[in-house]
Amino acid sequence: MKRTFALAVVVAVACAAAACGGAAPASKAPEPTAYPAIDGKAVLEHTKILSSDEFEGRAPGTHGEDLTVAYITDHFKKAGLKPGNPDGTYIQKVPMVGIITDQKAVLSFRRAGKEQKLAWRDDFVAWTKRVADAVSVAKSDVVFVGYGVQAPEFNWDDYKGIDLKGKTMVVLIGDPPVADPSNPSELDPKTFGGKAMTYYGRWTYKYEMGQKMGAAAVLIVHETEPAGYPFAVVQGKTAEQFSLVAPDKNMSRAAVEGWISLDQAKKLFALAGKDFDAAKKAALDPTFKPVPLGATATVALRNTIRTIDSQNVAGKIEGSDPALKNEYVIYTAHWDHFGIGVPVNGDTVYHGAVDNATGIGGMIEIGRTFAKMPTSPKRSVLLLAVTGEEQGLLGSGYYAENPLYPLDKTVGVVNMDALNVYGKTKDITITGYGNSDLDDYAAAIAAEQGRVVRPDPEPEKGGFFRSDHFPFARKGVPALASGGGIDYVGKPAGWGKQKSDDFTANHYHKPSDVVRADWDMSGAEQDLQYYWMLGYRLAQADKLPGWKAGSGFKR
Ligand SMILES: [Zn+2]
Repeated sequence: MKRTFALAVVVAVACAAAACGGAAPASKAPEPTAYPAIDGKAVLEHTKILSSDEFEGRAPGTHGEDLTVAYITDHFKKAGLKPGNPDGTYIQKVPMVGIITDQKAVLSFRRAGKEQKLAWRDDFVAWTKRVADAVSVAKSDVVFVGYGVQAPEFNWDDYKGIDLKGKTMVVLIGDPPVADPSNPSELDPKTFGGKAMTYYGRWTYKYEMGQKMGAAAVLIVHETEPAGYPFAVVQGKTAEQFSLVAPDKNMSRAAVEGWISLDQAKKLFALAGKDFDAAKKAALDPTFKPVPLGATATVALRNTIRTIDSQNVAGKIEGSDPALKNEYVIYTAHWDHFGIGVPVNGDTVYHGAVDNATGIGGMIEIGRTFAKMPTSPKRSVLLLAVTGEEQGLLGSGYYAENPLYPLDKTVGVVNMDALNVYGKTKDITITGYGNSDLDDYAAAIAAEQGRVVRPDPEPEKGGFFRSDHFPFARKGVPALASGGGIDYVGKPAGWGKQKSDDFTANHYHKPSDVVRADWDMSGAEQDLQYYWMLGYRLAQADKLPGWKAGSGFKR
């Protein structure tokens, strides 16, 4: 059931004629109920251009970035969007540092005259986020901190009575897999989300805790299952890594951050006269206390560094309500991908067509649809094409720390990362379903489209923490990650999952993520109508959306 934008126009015009504006309370304006037509062909054209060889895989700090930022700015203007930065431009500069760590480093643990040497890449991978040519840690006391979690809401603190300043913290990946007391074969859904990963399980959290505790080094023990990926993925973290540059040049971060293999962790515990598996088990108890291993760690890293200003691109539609126009609905989509890299089947350009040229194409067309309305929504809408998502949510993270408009005036964030290119679906996936009121908006709109909402099928992978809505959520702004489905109209059961699994296995983050002849953009159109309506209703809402109790987030 597809209705056209024409009806919305009629409603809005009728509203103007009936003096809905002026002295009448703006909140009485009737809601347009029609879904706009959004042109999938136009989205496909943007996607083809942005993912072409010419755009060189859109890596931050490259010619590909210059072309991409110019393209988005140009199309935002053509779509009728105003400059999104209050300084009158479409650009928010994002200062980043690119660091390549010299790959000859050795990490050694010593205790009582014995030494355990770990080889670079085979046994450990480490880097620094400090803007420094070299960092080192010498004879630093090693402390095992279990899962390294401090979570008052679960009465959990793995740092009881320890001063970690200058010390080396060895920490487990994942959040503590606490068994359900009433059914010990299952995880307790009331503690750390049961099977779903909470943010306490993410590797980024462990390094943030190391910084908070003043540790000199943070070494995560790699285990494939709770990490969600093999050690080979960790070993891949040896190319140039980009980070945001804090005013202190990141000097408050631990000097050394890294991973050690499970095998080496076991050897370290043996060196300390302890058993790794027993220590890991003890870390599941809320009474766990940090365990000094009586060993020291020594490592030195040399860096090649460059600093760049990457760019977020922002366009806006100014709200029509004089009071509410200072409040913002934000759409986010990342423009960056991996640039030119290691060849796969002879191709060196990481095209990032699905991920996320489609999201940017969709964002331009959503912007055009808003700009075409005879009367803008009450609140303003900001379209934010962010940089550095693939490097760790850098552009969105920078915006959340340095917002162009106050976050307490930001109604909600709708993220678009990879549109559906396989046709219409009967369902739509919401990651972290039940976190915020946005999910209710989303479910209502999906129902109007004749679709059902499907929660994230793999919550243990922590999808809610892995795209550009998350930095906003952390700051308390309700933010939604959703899109696509797996139940395709006119296709047999299992077809969608097969498509999605094939993409993940063969094309995700590989040069072969390209536009294909068999793409069906009707699914992208369906999702973009949903995204548009979500933003529109947030921009018109009587009441600001909030977080659900127990979500772990607060405004
Ligand atoms: Zn990606």
